[in-house]
Amino acid sequence: MSPPTGIALLGATGSIGATAQRVVARHPARFRFVAMTAHSDRAALAAADARWRPAVVGLVNPGNEPLPERWSHGRECLVEAATHDDVAIVLNAVVGAVGLEATLAAVSAGKRVALANKESLVMGGALVQRAMCSGGGTVVPVDSEHSALLQCLAGRVGGRGPGLLPVAGVRRFIITASGGPFREWDAKRIHQATLADVLKHPTWAMGRKISVDSASLANKALEVIEAHLLFGVPYERIEVVVHPQSIVHSMVEFEDGSVVAQLGVPSMELPVLYALGYPDRITDDGVPRFDPVASSPLTFEPVRHDLFPTLGLGIAAGVTGGAAPAVFNAANEAAVARVLAGTMAFSTIPGAIELALSRLGHHSGEDLPALLAADAAARVLVQEYR
Ligand code: NDP
Ligand code: MG
Repeated sequence: MSPPTGIALLGATGSIGATAQRVVARHPARFRFVAMTAHSDRAALAAADARWRPAVVGLVNPGNEPLPERWSHGRECLVEAATHDDVAIVLNAVVGAVGLEATLAAVSAGKRVALANKESLVMGGALVQRAMCSGGGTVVPVDSEHSALLQCLAGRVGGRGPGLLPVAGVRRFIITASGGPFREWDAKRIHQATLADVLKHPTWAMGRKISVDSASLANKALEVIEAHLLFGVPYERIEVVVHPQSIVHSMVEFEDGSVVAQLGVPSMELPVLYALGYPDRITDDGVPRFDPVASSPLTFEPVRHDLFPTLGLGIAAGVTGGAAPAVFNAANEAAVARVLAGTMAFSTIPGAIELALSRLGHHSGEDLPALLAADAAARVLVQEYR
C-alpha cells in the first residue's frame, strides 16, 4: 500500500480545520498532516501539534511570547506549509483574502488545493487559473454547494473551456441558500438586529465571519462567483434559491431538462472528505447519515432581494469582472470585521459595499499588485464609512 498522502492544513484551529482533523483521524492509512497553521490561537495549534506532529507548524501572529523552536511564524508560514515537498494536498481553510498567496503558491507548485477559502478565489480567480496552467496544480472545492455541484457533474468535469474545472452540457446551476437567521424577519427587525442575532445561524455551525456572511447573503454572492470561476458557467445560468433545511446542497440542470441534486445533513465532513479523496469516494461510517423522513419536508422559496441587497451587489461585481469581485470581497471583509467589533451595524453592510464598488469597481485588476491595491483601497473606504 502507498504511504499516506501528505496534507497541509491552513487554518487548523478553525471550524473547517477541526472538521478536517476529525476526518483525517478516521483515515490514518490514507492521509497524514505534514503542515498546520493558525493565525494567533497558540493553545489550539499546540494541541494540534501534539496530536499530529506535522513537519511544519506555523503561527502567523505569535504576539510577544517566544515560540517552540520547531514552529515558524509570520505570513510566510502559509506559503512554506503549502509548498512543502511532502505535501500533496493543501486544505486552505483560512478565512479571508489573505489565503490567496497560499492558493497561488500551492497550484504553482503542482499541489491539489482543497479550497474552503472561497475569498481567495473570488479575489484572484484569473490569477489562480494562470498559476494552475503554469504549475500543474488543481483546485477542488470544499464549500458544500460547490462540492454538491461537482458531485452532480460526476464524470463531466475536465477538458477545454472556461473555469478551473470546465464543464459542458449544463443548462443551469441552482445553488441553495439556507436564508440565514433573518430569512423571515422584516426590514425593521433586521435593522435592529444584535450581533448575537446575526451569529445565530439556523442550520450550520461555522466560524464568525462566514456566519455574518450567511446572514447578509454575502456568502451566497461569494459562492455564485466561486461557481462561475470554478466551472465556467455564465452568471445568467446560475440561480440561487432559498432552502431553509440545508439538505439539498445544490442542483445541476442538464441540457435535456434533467435536474440532479446532492443531498445530505448540514455537515462539512462529507465535503472535506470528498475534496481530499476526489475523484474517489472513500468509505466512511463517521459521516453523519441522511434520513429522508426525519429531514422532511424539504421546501424552497425565492430570495428576498429587497431585504438582502448584498447578494445582488456581489453578483453584479462578478459580472463586471476585473477588480470588482476583489473590491466586493474586501469591502465585505472590512464591513464584517467592523460588525464583529461592534463599530458598525449589520444593516449598513450593503451601503458600505456599494460605496466601495462605486469608487473602485471599475479598476482592471490585471495582476496581483493591482488586486492588492484595490483590496486595500476598499478596506480603507469601509473603515471610514459612517
Ligand atoms: P474560522 O474563523 O473558524 O477559522 C479560520 C482559521 O483561519 C483559523 O484557523 C484562524 O486561526 C485562521 N486565520 C484567521 N485569520 C488568518 C490570517 N490572517 N492568516 C492566517 N490564518 C488566519 O473559519 P471557518 O473554518 O468557518 O472558515 C474558513 C474558510 O472556510 C472561510 O473562507 C469560509 O468562508 C470557508 N467555509 C467555511 C465553512 C464552515 O462550515 N465553517 C463552510 C464553507 C466554507 P486562529 O484560530 O489562530 O485565529
Ligand atoms: Mg457554502
